Amino acid sequence: MDFAFQNSIKEPSEVVGRYAPSPTGHMHLGNARTALLAWLHARRQGGRFILRFEDLDHTRVRPYAYDSIRQDLEWLGLDWDEEHIQSERLDLYEEAFQKLETYPCTCSRKDILEAASAPHGAEMVYPGICLQGGLKPERPQAWRWRVPEVSIRVSDHLVGPITQNLPYDVGDFVLKRNDGVFAYHLAVVVDDADMGVTEVVRGMDLWTATPRQVALQQALGFPTPEYWHVPLMTDFQGVRLAKRNGAPSVHDLRNHNANPESIVSQLTMGLGYDVPGTITPRELLSSPLTKLDNSYK
Ligand code: GLU
Repeated sequence: MDFAFQNSIKEPSEVVGRYAPSPTGHMHLGNARTALLAWLHARRQGGRFILRFEDLDHTRVRPYAYDSIRQDLEWLGLDWDEEHIQSERLDLYEEAFQKLETYPCTCSRKDILEAASAPHGAEMVYPGICLQGGLKPERPQAWRWRVPEVSIRVSDHLVGPITQNLPYDVGDFVLKRNDGVFAYHLAVVVDDADMGVTEVVRGMDLWTATPRQVALQQALGFPTPEYWHVPLMTDFQGVRLAKRNGAPSVHDLRNHNANPESIVSQLTMGLGYDVPGTITPRELLSSPLTKLDNSYK
């Protein structure tokens, strides 16, 4: 993977990166690799680094995960200048929500599936039932954003670009769920702007959701950060690592006295860089990061 660590023309003082885990369990190695990349990317440019816990979906939060993630990051040798917790920032999301044109929606997934015409993408596009008088007053209301009639093009340093027509490819999407929880897309956009984030290094699974986040940035008058969507780590069968599939957690490795410096080395080599068998993130900051010789392939 060609990961351009030093291609920025920004002043070091302007660079702000972040790692934004959802505290839903222990970190696995794929999470650790994304965190390491995000950290390296910001720190190699002399930038600041933020740890942000994305814990709005309280049904998925595991209280032990905050400390476990903090300890795993420290154990790996990663540090951060600021920490934020989304569940403590609800006023900011409400303020942004109030600025957007939204409408209430009482549709269940089933209602939407039944009403949607032939799906024209991987995702279900909301067919506008509640806009056309389908609101069911006895049900709790979610709030959807009436998306502007525009196409959004986003570029990324590793993949893309991607273009999506908002009404056709995305549809009016939920900004506040019917249990009052703000949608991740709204919170991430508000937070990245509020925290001055300039570099978003995160997993590839969020790439196709990026145009809707950029649309929200534009509607709210926020700048668009630069994006690096990094490949997800897979097991030997090519299946994405996931806690639910039994991927080894960093927490377990830590408790079994694994050597964090060899984990950092293996994660970095797994990205195609030629580094010693043990190395700390801080040493990686000043290492030349040359690509491994793949000529045997
Ligand atoms: N909280 C998201 C996750 O853990 C990451 C969001 C982001 O980096 O924008 O997958």
